[in-house]
Amino acid sequence: MGVSMILISEVGPRDGLQSIDRVMPTEAKKAWIAAEAAAGVREIEVGSFVPPSLLPQMADTAEVVAFARTIPGLNVVALVPNAKGAARAVEAGVHGMSIPFSMSETHSIKNVRKDHAAMLDEVRAVVGIAAEAGVKFAVGLSTAFGCTMEGPVSEDAVVRLAAACAEAGVTEFSLSDTTGYANPAQVRRLVKGVRGAVGERLTTLHLHNTRGLGLANVLAGLDEGITTFDASLGGLGGCPFAPGASGNIVTEDLVFMLQAMGVETGIDLPALLKVRDIVAAALPGEPLYGFTPDAGLPLGFAA
Ligand code: ZN
Repeated sequence: MGVSMILISEVGPRDGLQSIDRVMPTEAKKAWIAAEAAAGVREIEVGSFVPPSLLPQMADTAEVVAFARTIPGLNVVALVPNAKGAARAVEAGVHGMSIPFSMSETHSIKNVRKDHAAMLDEVRAVVGIAAEAGVKFAVGLSTAFGCTMEGPVSEDAVVRLAAACAEAGVTEFSLSDTTGYANPAQVRRLVKGVRGAVGERLTTLHLHNTRGLGLANVLAGLDEGITTFDASLGGLGGCPFAPGASGNIVTEDLVFMLQAMGVETGIDLPALLKVRDIVAAALPGEPLYGFTPDAGLPLGFAA
């Protein structure tokens, strides 16, 4: 494996909350973010700059960013759907932002009304905004492992689109299993393929646990040299089509696996487990997932 320190990027306040109708109060979001940072989480995607009319859950993102910026050592990132959102993110003071680029053209047209050529133009515009502001910018190659509208997504197309983004000036990429379709063999293949086109600029895997393969996919990514993994506390925002399945991979289970393997994350697991209380209190009735939180730490477990 050769990697001794892995970055876990908490995406619960964005990806987790985004699929939940009940709006989490801003103060609860702040308490959640502060508690996770105190537990040693070094990067949090705190929200997204989509139009508030489309997603009331994210209407307070600028305020949440401003708060998160006051936490020393925390890398504050946000999702932006387009150049307009990127300008808002920069104005709010993010350290970094990412744009999802759907590898399924059908999904892209349906979701953001842009074909691949139009998305490349948008990416180019955001590269400019990010460079001018001195803000980090990543492209999330979303639906890269399969699409609920198109089915299988061509791996050659993913590699080609990643290369086109790199040519447009993108310096950081994540591969996203938006739909929870990925399997470990596919993760190895696609990481190798995209690395072939953009090299070390592919840093991150964004995985969902829809079919229970989330941590197996993490392991495949680790073996291929991936150094950053997105995860959501309590696997918040479970999959509506798969009752009982978490949304993103569960941060607590991911930290447990890595630490049990001797891979450093910088996170205090018992402290992280306590953060669930904040989320549970703010979203009564919302299911929280995770095996480690349910079972507890093994006797004698040492991080
Ligand atoms: Zn996701």
